[in-house]
Amino acid sequence: MSQFATAPHPIRRVLIANRGEIACRIIRTCRRLGIWTIAVYSDVDAAALHVRSADETARIGPAPAAQSYLSIGAILDAARRTGADAIHPGYGFLSENAAFARACREAGLIYIGPSAEAIAAMGSKIEAKKVAQAAGVPTVPGYHGDDQSPARLTREARRIGFPVLIKAAHGGGGRGMRRVDKEGELVARLSAARSEAASAFGDDSVLLEKLIAKPRHLEVQLVGDAHSNLVHLFERDCSVQRNNQKVFEEAPAPNLPEAVRQKLYAHALQLGKAIGYTSAGTVEFVMEAGSDEPYFLEMNTRLQVEHPVTEAITGVDLVEWQLRVAAGLSLPAGQNEIRRRGHAIEARIAAERPEQDFQPAIGRITHLAAPTGARFDTGIAGGSEIGIHYDSMVAKLIAYGDNRQAAVDKLDAALAHLSILGVATNIGMLRACIARPAFTAGQLTTAFLATEFPRGWSAPADAVDRLAAAAALAWIEAQTPDATALWQQSIGFRVMGRRRPAQVELTVANDQSERTVTVLRTHAGFAARIGDQTWPLSNDETITAVEGNRVMVAQGGLTLDASIGLSIAKLSAIESKAEGETRLVTPLPGVVTGLFTSLGASVRKGDNLIQLEAMKLVHTLQSPADGRVGKVLHAIGEAVAAGATLIEIIPKERK
Ligand code: ADP
Ligand code: ADP
Ligand code: MG
Repeated sequence: MSQFATAPHPIRRVLIANRGEIACRIIRTCRRLGIWTIAVYSDVDAAALHVRSADETARIGPAPAAQSYLSIGAILDAARRTGADAIHPGYGFLSENAAFARACREAGLIYIGPSAEAIAAMGSKIEAKKVAQAAGVPTVPGYHGDDQSPARLTREARRIGFPVLIKAAHGGGGRGMRRVDKEGELVARLSAARSEAASAFGDDSVLLEKLIAKPRHLEVQLVGDAHSNLVHLFERDCSVQRNNQKVFEEAPAPNLPEAVRQKLYAHALQLGKAIGYTSAGTVEFVMEAGSDEPYFLEMNTRLQVEHPVTEAITGVDLVEWQLRVAAGLSLPAGQNEIRRRGHAIEARIAAERPEQDFQPAIGRITHLAAPTGARFDTGIAGGSEIGIHYDSMVAKLIAYGDNRQAAVDKLDAALAHLSILGVATNIGMLRACIARPAFTAGQLTTAFLATEFPRGWSAPADAVDRLAAAAALAWIEAQTPDATALWQQSIGFRVMGRRRPAQVELTVANDQSERTVTVLRTHAGFAARIGDQTWPLSNDETITAVEGNRVMVAQGGLTLDASIGLSIAKLSAIESKAEGETRLVTPLPGVVTGLFTSLGASVRKGDNLIQLEAMKLVHTLQSPADGRVGKVLHAIGEAVAAGATLIEIIPKERK
C-alpha cells in the first residue's frame, strides 16, 4: 500500500481540477506513487490528452471555463460523484482561489495546496505588499493604500516619479497592468486598468509601482509542511517575457551575484514564515539589471508553470512534495539536504502566430513528434483539437545540462526536433531568441524580445522558400499514382521541349505570401526550384503531411501550412498555341465540374470557360483567344482523359 494511503490524512484518489499539460503532469506523479487519478473535463475536452491519461474521468460542464474549470460547484460535485479524497488545483483556474480551498475543506476533501488564509493573504497584491513590508521584505517603491481616488493616485504617482506602473490588485498572468510615462496619461490609463481588472478579476482596486527600467524577474521556490518546516529550492530567472508573461525560465539565474542570491532566499523564507506557508509556492521579485536590490512583487500560492526547471536542478518532484504535505507527512529533506546541480531551462510552447502579433492559433494537431534529450510536458498529442476557450500554452520543453550553455544547446536541439503540424506554434521564434548573442550571454531583462525583435518576429524569407519547396515536393509525391501518369503523358508537362526534363509549376500559398515553385523531374527524382535556388527531395529532417491541396511542413522548428495550386490553365493554353489551334485541351485526366459558356457564345481571351477537377484540385480553364464557342465536347460530370479537347473556339478574324 502506498505511504499516502496510511498517512495522517490518507490520499488514495486525487481529482485534478485542471486540464492541459499540468493535469497530465500531476497524473504522472500520482501514478508513480500509486494514487488513483480522476480527470475532469468540459464538453470540448472529452477526448483531450489529460482525460485519456487519467484512471477515471468526470464531466464538469460546457466549454466556457466559468461553467466548468472555474465552477467550484461543478468540481465539488464531480469529486463527490467519483469519491475523490483530495483535489489538486494545478495552476491558473481555481488554483489561487481562497473560496475554493475553503469549500474543498468544508466538503471534507483534502486541498493540495496552502491554507485558504495564506491564499487570501497573498491574493491581493496590496495586502501582500503590506505583509511583506511587515516581515521586513523590501517591496517595489510605490503606493498600495486604500484611498483609490484619482486625485490621490495622481499625487502618489508624482511622489513616486514617472514612469509608474498601474497594477490590478488581484491581477495575474500579466494582465491588468498599464504603464504611465507622464502625468497627463494617468487618468485614462487608470480607467483602462480598472475596467480590465473589473472584468477579468472581479475587483477594480489598483496599486502603483515605480516602473523598473531594466527589470530582471527572479523568483524563489518555497515548500512548507504542517510541521513548521519551510525550505527554499533556489531561484529561477524568468526575465524573458512577452506582455509580462514568461516565455523562457531557467535555474539558477545567470550572472547573479551570490550576495543577491542569498538575499532572495532570505526574503522568500521571511515572507513564507510570516504567513505560516505550507505546500509549494513561489515568491516573485523584480530587480533592476546590475543592481543588487531585489524587490518583492507578489507570491503565487500554487505550483508554478516553470516548476520543472527547479525539479531538474534539485531532483525533487514538487508534486510529490505537495502530496506529502497535503497528506500530513513531513518534507522528506531539510534545507541542508537540498542541493542543486547543473542548469535547466524551459521554453513555453504556445499555439500562436508570432508573425501575426502572436494571435492565438486554433485547429487540429495533425502530427506531433516529441524530441528526445529534453523533458516534454505536453497537454496535446497528434489529433488534439486546440480551441478558443483556454490558454494558448500547450506544452513545455525543459532541458538540463552541466552548465548553462549545455542546457541551452540541448533546448535548441529539442526545439528543432519538436515538430507540430496542423496548428501554428511559436517554436521558430523560440529558436530565434536562443540564437541571439544576448541570450547566449545570459544578459536577460524583460525588454529582451522588444529589443531584439523591435518589429516583431517572422520566419526569414529564405527559410520559408525552403519550406515552400518541401511543400511542393511533398504534394507531388502524394499524387502517386497520378503523379507517375502525369509525367508519362505524351502531352502534359513537356512544355519546355523534349530534351529538357519535364517540369510543372505550382503555387504554394498561405495567408502571408504566395510562392511559385517549379518542380523538376530529374534523373535522381524530383527537385523544386524557386528563383535560382533548387532543392532536392528527401530531407530526413523534414516532416510533411498532405491533405488534398493542403500541405503542412515542419523543418527545424519552422512550419508552413500552405495550399497548393497547379497552373493547368496556363499549360493548356500553351499547348493549344503550340498546335496553332484554338482548342482548349486538358493536360490532366479529370472530371468536368463546371461549364461557364455554351455553344455559339462569344468569348474573350482569358474568360473562364470550364472547370475541371484533376489531381484532387479544382482548375478553371480560360479561353486561349477571342472568338466564338464552336464546340463543347464534354458535359458536367464527364471524365476526360489527358490530352482531350474540351472546347473548340472559332477565332475572331485577325485584321
Ligand atoms: P506562472 O506560473 O509562472 O506565474 P502564469 O502566471 O503564466 O505563470 O501561469 C498562470 C497562467 O496559466 C494563467 O494565467 C492561465 O491563463 C494559464 N493556465 C491556467 N491553466 C492552464 C492550463 N491547464 N494549461 C495552460 N495554461 C493554463
Ligand atoms: P502577475 O500577477 O500578472 O504575474 P506581477 O506583479 O508578477 O504580476 O508582474 C508580472 C511581470 O510584470 C513581472 O514579471 C515583470 O516582468 C513586470 N513587472 C511587474 N512589476 C514591475 C515593475 N514595477 N517594473 C517593471 N516591470 C514590472
Ligand atoms: Mg507574477
